[in-house]
Amino acid sequence: MTRTWMADQIFPELFKFYQFAEEKLKTKFFYPQPLYRPFLSAEEQNEWMGLSSNTTIKPYIEKILTTSAHGDQVYDPFGGIVLNQCGFLDVNGFLAGIQNYLQDKQSIKFEHFDDGLMEVDTEGIVYKNYRAAKIIFCNGIGSLNSSRFEKLPIRLLKGETLTIELEEVPELIYNRGVYLVPLANNRYRVGATYETKNLARGTTEMGRIELDQKLKALIKIPYQVVSQDWGFRPTTPDRRPILGEYPESKNVIIFNGLGTKGVSLAPYFSAQLVNWLLGRGEIQSEVNIKRFKSLSSKSREVV
Ligand SMILES: Cc1cc2nc3c(=O)[nH]c(=O)nc-3n(C[C@H](O)[C@H](O)[C@H](O)COP(=O)(O)OP(=O)(O)OC[C@H]3O[C@@H](n4cnc5c(N)ncnc54)[C@H](O)[C@@H]3O)c2cc1C
Repeated sequence: MTRTWMADQIFPELFKFYQFAEEKLKTKFFYPQPLYRPFLSAEEQNEWMGLSSNTTIKPYIEKILTTSAHGDQVYDPFGGIVLNQCGFLDVNGFLAGIQNYLQDKQSIKFEHFDDGLMEVDTEGIVYKNYRAAKIIFCNGIGSLNSSRFEKLPIRLLKGETLTIELEEVPELIYNRGVYLVPLANNRYRVGATYETKNLARGTTEMGRIELDQKLKALIKIPYQVVSQDWGFRPTTPDRRPILGEYPESKNVIIFNGLGTKGVSLAPYFSAQLVNWLLGRGEIQSEVNIKRFKSLSSKSREVV
């Protein structure tokens, strides 16, 4: 019941960015659409009614429904809230579009990057037969495999999802405990779990049961589970991204820690990183790598 961090800056940027990317790549992958969140109780309904006049939250509320509005598809006896500035990104479609674009320009290579082979000298970076002024590491949890970045505070947050087939098309995106977003061929993605302790690779029975139970509490539409998937999110101790030059590694730039929100954070913060690289602006302190004092050898000596 609060606005997400920096929503007023981040949301306009993401809508602009993905719409621009669709035009540039001539592919459809961005689907802005309202989201319906059923209320669990009359108290929750009242709280939202109170909040709806709050000027900072109002722009995100399309309407508040005090009686069941989608009761044939979801459990919403107390009504619910329709939020705007919502939607979903077909991430695979977006990535495929970008990869094709870069391939056409012969500007991408698909290979493992071995940072043990990378050298940093006074003029920049040398890697195999490449020389570059700078290098940007946007390798997510891959940073954990590198001794170079062993102090970078990236933490794993495991998530599992289900792919289901529904017997009816949902009228909106539904979200309560889990989200339900469309894929192709009448299939839908249900997600996600948040697991910090059991970090074994692969899907789990526990994950399936949790998602199944939450989905059953949300929708009335019959469904079949088609498959289950999992992944690790690259999070940080303060749940903010990490941007900037890795301490004592001149020209080695980090863009990481997007955590649970890469889709919404990446457009805004990649622009911020580029502006900083071009000398047109600063990296804000909340996301600046400099906030982790323990990364520099000086403070390691103190410790
Ligand atoms: C189950 C689940 C649900 C999620 N749901 C959402 C959601 O609803 N909304 C949202 O915004 N975010 C969601 N996320 C989070 C989102 O996926 C992350 O925020 C995002 O992927 C982070 O992007 P990234 O580019 O920093 O890292 P990644 O997506 O991890 O990309 C890093 C890339 O670097 C590559 N790489 C690493 N090391 C090397 C190397 N040595 N050589 C070559 N390549 C390398 C990896 O292969 C990978 O392709 C979810 C994540 C999970 C697991």
